[in-house]
Amino acid sequence: MERVINFSAGPSVLPLAVLHKAQSELLSVAGSGQSVMEMSHRSPVFEHILAQAETDLRTLLGIPENYKVLFLQGGASLQFTMIPMNLLKGTKKVDFIHTGEWSKKAMAEVKRFGSVNVVASSEATQFDRIPSFSAKDFSDDAEYIHYVSNNTIFGTRLTEFPKLPNDKILVCDMSSDILSKPIDVSRHGLIFAGAQKNMGIAGLTVVILREDLLGRVPNLPPMLDYKVQADNASLYNTPPCFSIYMAGLVFEWLLAQGGLSVIEAKNEAKAKLLYDYLDASPFYRATVPLTKDRSIMNVCFVSPSPEMDAAFVKFAEAKGLVNLKGHRLVGGMRASIYNGMTIENVQTLIRVLDEFVQRQR
Ligand SMILES: *Cc1c(COP(=O)(O)O)cnc(C)c1O
Repeated sequence: MERVINFSAGPSVLPLAVLHKAQSELLSVAGSGQSVMEMSHRSPVFEHILAQAETDLRTLLGIPENYKVLFLQGGASLQFTMIPMNLLKGTKKVDFIHTGEWSKKAMAEVKRFGSVNVVASSEATQFDRIPSFSAKDFSDDAEYIHYVSNNTIFGTRLTEFPKLPNDKILVCDMSSDILSKPIDVSRHGLIFAGAQKNMGIAGLTVVILREDLLGRVPNLPPMLDYKVQADNASLYNTPPCFSIYMAGLVFEWLLAQGGLSVIEAKNEAKAKLLYDYLDASPFYRATVPLTKDRSIMNVCFVSPSPEMDAAFVKFAEAKGLVNLKGHRLVGGMRASIYNGMTIENVQTLIRVLDEFVQRQR
């Protein structure tokens, strides 16, 4: 079976070594004679898998002691609802940096519980950049600030956040760039990410939150209450066992690579290679103009026409490079080059991009 080069935005490519490891343990994990999919989530083998996954994630991200790590279900989308449900108790106002479709969806959920203040927005330019903002732009009475670190659809990333007073609670949607580089967890009140982009497979959502944010709102439905989930160490009910196991294998792989600084250097190198090629090309154009705003996970670009875009996607597919079609809101192409994408495969993409240009002569 020949594998393709997969540029899917999510679910997305996994390191081959991780898939091989999962394959080798599929029928019997840790000498148990059972697959992870078949055993009790309260068995010692699974409890070890869960505990090791948490330990490794804590090591990778340098998560401080006063933060909980929760392994939940419902995707990043359920967090759009759970966050305001669990955090809003006073003014019920939330400050937003509006950078695309995912902040828009999150704002819609906040409005069920309270109100939204848009601090900065790049909607006027179809989210092709990160809007500028500074510490003084935030409202005094917002209960937290929500931002998206990497905009999967529009291919932008927010790398610098102004220094804020300590009592400000920063909430970050890191669904598409968590584990792509080291981060300062302690600057955040809550970080969340669906696993299926850069952390593993669908079915798992990781929430990292500061302990003092637990139990702010009483009497929530238990499955939607961070405190219940934390008090039960993510085992209030059956967790997504296999997805947790797969994320654990990804964490183990990341540690073996040398950790997130090493991975970051690789990710920056991959993205630079591709953007440099696009910038030098008279044929293609990266849709995000400013280098500082360009995502190193999702590289969006266009050819001279939508017809040509479609022809390129077909051409690439015939050569085994798949899922390069851009999101319908942006058009063109999108190459998602998460941790699992090798630099060799990015080089192949560039070769194929170039071959396509030669064909147009
Ligand atoms: C994919 C994505 C989501 C939605 O994730 P689901 O797990 O499908 O709910 C939210 N935010 C960002 C930044 C994403 O890339």
